[in-house]
Amino acid sequence: MDSQPAPGSGDYVALEARYGARNYQPLPVVVHRALDCLVWDVEGREYIDMMGAYSAVSHGHLHPRLVAAARRQLERVAVTSRAYYGDTLGPFLARLCSLAGFDRALPMNTGAEAVETAIKCARRWGYRVKGIPDGQAEILVARGNFHGRTSTIVGFSSEPEYKAGFGPFAPGFRAFDFGDMASLRAAAGPHTCAVLIETIQGEAGVILPPPGFFRELRDWCTRERVLLIADEVQAGLGRTGRWFAFEHEGIRPDALVLGKALGGGLLPVSAFLADAAVMDVFDPGSHGSTFGGNALAAAVALEGLCVLHEERLVERAAERGPYLLERLHEVQGAARPLIRAVRGRGLWAGVDIDPAHGSARRLVEQLARRGVLSKETHETVNRFAPPLTITPALIDRAVGVFRDVALAAVRTASHSA
Ligand SMILES: *Cc1c(COP(=O)(O)O)cnc(C)c1O
Repeated sequence: MDSQPAPGSGDYVALEARYGARNYQPLPVVVHRALDCLVWDVEGREYIDMMGAYSAVSHGHLHPRLVAAARRQLERVAVTSRAYYGDTLGPFLARLCSLAGFDRALPMNTGAEAVETAIKCARRWGYRVKGIPDGQAEILVARGNFHGRTSTIVGFSSEPEYKAGFGPFAPGFRAFDFGDMASLRAAAGPHTCAVLIETIQGEAGVILPPPGFFRELRDWCTRERVLLIADEVQAGLGRTGRWFAFEHEGIRPDALVLGKALGGGLLPVSAFLADAAVMDVFDPGSHGSTFGGNALAAAVALEGLCVLHEERLVERAAERGPYLLERLHEVQGAARPLIRAVRGRGLWAGVDIDPAHGSARRLVEQLARRGVLSKETHETVNRFAPPLTITPALIDRAVGVFRDVALAAVRTASHSA
């Protein structure tokens, strides 16, 4: 046995930097383990997770019921491919469909794959049901969207960083301004088959739709025979204090894309949901995924839905979300002009940082140093999306640290001005 000192955080950072592709710029926190809303690094320092892996960890880290479900399934079977039936997929899909109110669901793994599924379904529906000439279908997408990272999806992103050097891109997408019906109408044409839209734009900075926008959009889609497809990969499954963010808007989309929290924080599980008249454009051989709907994923995802329901996590988000926002508004009041705005819905908040007075990335770094994990988006927004299990006491602790860090940034800025 050698007696070298145990590797520390710096060693692991160096290994990732040396052998990993450089497509991320992580905060220098090296996670060793996590439980519920807390995370510990290699040196044993404790952090409050106010990020929840972009909503993938809505149940909290390693929820005991989800770990137990995974263990049980691992005693039986994990992966068979969809060449066979299984005794976990049907129960999972049935529960998911009844919760979301759709006839059918198509399971995939990542959010981007479920979005790709939505795109294929919408186009085929456009040709076979709406009668659009072959190869001409168009899908309307909102500016500022984030739907994942495949080459097709980044092609209709409005973020230069996501697409530079990755073209040529697939045609058939037209952009409109999020929340603006006039802009949407101007982008539409006779070959429009669908509107693909996040109910709340997450990566854009937790941007809420203007009141009434989705009702107008719903009416327009019905009138024009255009599918309304809600991407709730980040917003769905309780994050906003309702099971689905579209419920706040008083509408029902024609199809729904889910991911992230669907895997219970353990596995990548995503799904595309629609009624039979739309979903049945898929026939055998037309679409698939080797791992999509595998037995382990289905068992964990089904248990995840049960946990959300039985532990009332959606209601908790509805209760604690406003408390988080209220506490962040207090910080805003104390840390002007650094913080321009605080907004959000449920346990999902975006804090706008005025770039003239500070940087979101620096705040996130300082928060991490003080034991609070969050993430900036677009240089100017601090985003908070803790597990739905978070307690008021942990919210107080995390927001207290945010307040200290923000006030220190205000003092530094005024001294150097
Ligand atoms: C994260 C996200 C995706 C992509 O999910 P991946 O699992 O990273 O592929 C798609 N849509 C929205 C709204 C997201 O937030």
